[in-house]
Amino acid sequence: MCGIVGYTGRKQAAPILLEGLTKLEYRGYDSAGVAVSDVLGKIVIAKAQGKLEVLKEKIDGGKAIQGKCGIGHTRWATHGVPNETNAHPHCNDDSTIVAVHNGIIENYAELKAKLQRRGYQFYSETDTEVATKLVDYYYKKYGEPLKAISEFALRVRGSYALAVMFSDYKGEIFAIRKDSPMVIGTSGGDCFLASDVPALLKYTKHVYYIENLQIAHLFDGQAQFFNLDREPVGVPLTEVTWDAEAAEKDGYEHYMLKEIHEQPRVVRDTVGYLLHDGNIDFSELMLTDEALAGFKSIVVVGCGSAYHAGVVMQYVIEDLARIPVRVELASEFRYRTLNLRGDELVIAISQSGETADTIAALREAKAQGLKTLAVVNVVGSTIAREADYVFYTKAGPEISVATTKAYSAQLIAGYLIAIKLAEVRGAVSSEYAKALKAELLLLPEKIESILAEQASVQQFAFHTMDKKDAFFIGRGIDYAVSMEGSLKLKEISYIHSEAYAAGELKHGAISLVENGTLVFGVLTQEGLIAKTVSNLLETKSRNARLAVVAFEDIELPQVCEKVFSVPRTDSHFAASLSVIPLQLYSYYLSVSKGNNVDKPRNLAKSVTVE
Ligand code: GLU
Repeated sequence: MCGIVGYTGRKQAAPILLEGLTKLEYRGYDSAGVAVSDVLGKIVIAKAQGKLEVLKEKIDGGKAIQGKCGIGHTRWATHGVPNETNAHPHCNDDSTIVAVHNGIIENYAELKAKLQRRGYQFYSETDTEVATKLVDYYYKKYGEPLKAISEFALRVRGSYALAVMFSDYKGEIFAIRKDSPMVIGTSGGDCFLASDVPALLKYTKHVYYIENLQIAHLFDGQAQFFNLDREPVGVPLTEVTWDAEAAEKDGYEHYMLKEIHEQPRVVRDTVGYLLHDGNIDFSELMLTDEALAGFKSIVVVGCGSAYHAGVVMQYVIEDLARIPVRVELASEFRYRTLNLRGDELVIAISQSGETADTIAALREAKAQGLKTLAVVNVVGSTIAREADYVFYTKAGPEISVATTKAYSAQLIAGYLIAIKLAEVRGAVSSEYAKALKAELLLLPEKIESILAEQASVQQFAFHTMDKKDAFFIGRGIDYAVSMEGSLKLKEISYIHSEAYAAGELKHGAISLVENGTLVFGVLTQEGLIAKTVSNLLETKSRNARLAVVAFEDIELPQVCEKVFSVPRTDSHFAASLSVIPLQLYSYYLSVSKGNNVDKPRNLAKSVTVE
C-alpha cells in the first residue's frame, strides 16, 4: 500500500515530491526515497528507512538535492526487508536509469537469473531492482526509452506502477502501469504523477487516469500517452470534483474506509507508545509495577465496541495474567449492586472519553474507593481527567461514527495491559513474554496484507446485499470478534444481525436459520475451531450460506462459500486481524446499499447521554 510520485517542471522537484509523498502516507509504508535529476541530467538518489520525516531531515526538506525533475516513493516491502538498500528508487550501475515501482513483479527470480547470466549484478533483494535492470537491458539494446519500457512490459508478470528517469532524457519521466494505480496531471508548464489524486490536488484538478499497459511520457509541461506498440493513444482528461472535506479523506470515499486503512499505523503507534526496546513501560500511565501487582481482580466497563474490546481484553488478561476479569456494560454496571472489592482495578474504555454511561461507571467505582484506569483516545477528556491512570490509544481523530481504528487501538491497549500484568505477576515465562512482544510488532504488516485483499470482501458484500439477517459465531476471542462484526453490520448496513457464542446457537437462535441465512464463522482459536466448524455445519444443514474468517493455514470444509484468510498470529492477538475483513464487509455492504456510511441513521459518534 505504498505510493509513487513524479514531477517535472519549472520548480525545484524534491520539496514537491516530499509533499506528494506526505499526502500518500495514509497508504502505509516502511521506507521512502526520492531521485532528482539536475540540469546536466545527473541523477541523485536519497533514501531512508522509516518515516518520511527521516528522509525529509536527511535532505533538508528537499533543499539538499537540486533539480527540476524527479521521482519519489514510499515503500511497503514485499521483496526484501524494509531497509535503506531495498528502499526505492533503484538504479542501474551508473545511475543513468532510475526507477520507482509499486506492486510486485511475479517472475522476478527468473528475470533476475537471466540478467545475471548477462553479467548484471544486484545490490538489493527487491523485484524492483530487477525491473529497473530489465529496462536498462532493453534501453542498451534499443537505445530508446519507449521501446525499453514496452519490452519490459512484455517480459514481466505481475502488477506495477513504474516511473523511470533516463539521464539521457533530461527533464523527462516515463511511466507505465498494470493493476496498480497511477494518475497524471499537468498544470501551467508542470507535470505530475502519483499513485493517488490527493498528491496532485494542490496543483491541479484535471487529471489523466491511464489504463493498464499504457505508457506516459512527461516532458515540457505536457503528457503524451502510448500503447505497447509505441503508437500515440488519447487518454481523456478528467476533472476531480472533490470538495475540501473529501480531500481531507485523503482520497477515500468515506472516513470509515480511510480509518480502516489507518489501522496499521494506529496499531504501530499504540504499540510503540509503551513498548520500547522489548520492555512495556507503564510509567507514562503513572502506574507502577508494584501497584499493578497489587490488584487481585479486574473489572472492565465500556459501551458498544469499547465493551467488545473489553470482552477480548477479558479473554487475553485471564489467560495470560491468570487473574479474574469481568466485563460489564457501563450502562448496567452503574445501576447494579456491585459488591466490589477494594483490591480490584476498574478499567474504563471509551474512544471519546465522554461516554455518559462509562463516566458514571467510573465515578461509581471511584466513589467505592477503587483505583481506575482509563483507556481513551481523546486527550484531556472527562474520563481521562477523572481516572487514576490513563492509557491513551493512538488512533488519532476518528470521524466515522462506526468505530474501527479506535477499537483496534483499544485491543492493543488490552494486549499491553495483559502482558504487563502477566509479567509483574510472574504468570508467563520471560521467553513467552518476549515472543508476545515481538509478535505485537508484526501486527501492522499483517493488517496491511488483509487490507490488500479488500476487493474480494467488496465482491462478497455486493453479492449478499439482499440479505435480511446474519449471524456471527465463534468461541472465546472469536466470539468477542463476532460481537464486533455483528455490531458493525447493524450500525451501518441496517441489516439485522446477531452474534452468538457458537455453542449457544442450538439453544435457541438456530430456529431463525433458514434457506439462505448468512452465517459468518470466526475460526482462529486453537482447540475451538473444530467445535465452531461443527456449529457452522449445523446451520449449513438448514441451508445457511457460510462465510468464514480464518487463519490462512486452517483446513476448512468445502461448504464455505467464502473464506477470508488472515495471517497467523499468536491466538491472543487474533482479534486484531479477524476483525478487519468484518469491518470491510460492513463498509462495502453499506456502500452497496447507498447508505450514509459515516453518519448512519439514529447514531452519534460520542454518546454523551445515558
Ligand atoms: N515489490 C516492491 C518492493 O518490495 C515494491 C513494493 C511497493 O509496492 O512499494 O520493493
